[in-house]
Amino acid sequence: MKLIDTHAHLDLLDDPMAAFERAKQAGVGQIITVGIDLESSRRAADFSRDLLGVFCTVGLHPSEATKASPDLWAELKLLALTVSAVAVGECGLDYYRDRSPRHLQREVFNAQIELALDLGLPLVVHDREAHKDVLNMLAKSGAERVGGVVHCFSGDAVLAEELVSLGFSLGITGVITYKKSDELRALVKKVPLTKLLIETDCPYLSPEPYRGKPNEPAYVTHTHEALAKALGISAEEVGSVTTDNARRLFSLPYMEE
Ligand SMILES: [Zn+2]
Repeated sequence: MKLIDTHAHLDLLDDPMAAFERAKQAGVGQIITVGIDLESSRRAADFSRDLLGVFCTVGLHPSEATKASPDLWAELKLLALTVSAVAVGECGLDYYRDRSPRHLQREVFNAQIELALDLGLPLVVHDREAHKDVLNMLAKSGAERVGGVVHCFSGDAVLAEELVSLGFSLGITGVITYKKSDELRALVKKVPLTKLLIETDCPYLSPEPYRGKPNEPAYVTHTHEALAKALGISAEEVGSVTTDNARRLFSLPYMEE
């Protein structure tokens, strides 16, 4: 059984090639590398072309919302089609950092929900302290037709249930390994296992025992183990179900070698 890192930023790692090799050694068979603007979506596309088992998304992060333009949407759409992107994103709302005006963040999120519907691709959603708006926008736009993942899920059990009933999955990061994350460890038990994905969000959010150091796809193994422990089921089962979940959501090929 191979694990899948469903949310990595390979282009932000110091040595992506070395990290890719270490991921393979650690039993991470597939990696989804995520775009945050046009340039990083292009770099993600390059990785997906060059590295077996790496797949890309194309999108505009809410913190980069001021880069939006009609040309950018046309470029992202063309890129998604030519490189067989597996999702649109990461897109969403970030009311914590507030690096772009909120009304613009919402406009840019809507544009990407439409792009995902247009392309028939799932969404990779970023939600930081914007739970209500993210949920409302997903619900009102018909986004359940394509579904997706709310990555690095940080809401409560009520939000988790609402997202799951809209057809969305929840991405679990290294945060689940942190001492203070009792709430998250309790929450995952209330979510159907078929709706959970594991991810690193590398180079950010390193799991224990690497907290404070740069994260990389190989470390998703620690998140996987912490999730299994929280759920009280075997690491084998959690690995094979979350891997199947990722393959189903992103239409990834079956690869064990
Ligand atoms: Zn990310």
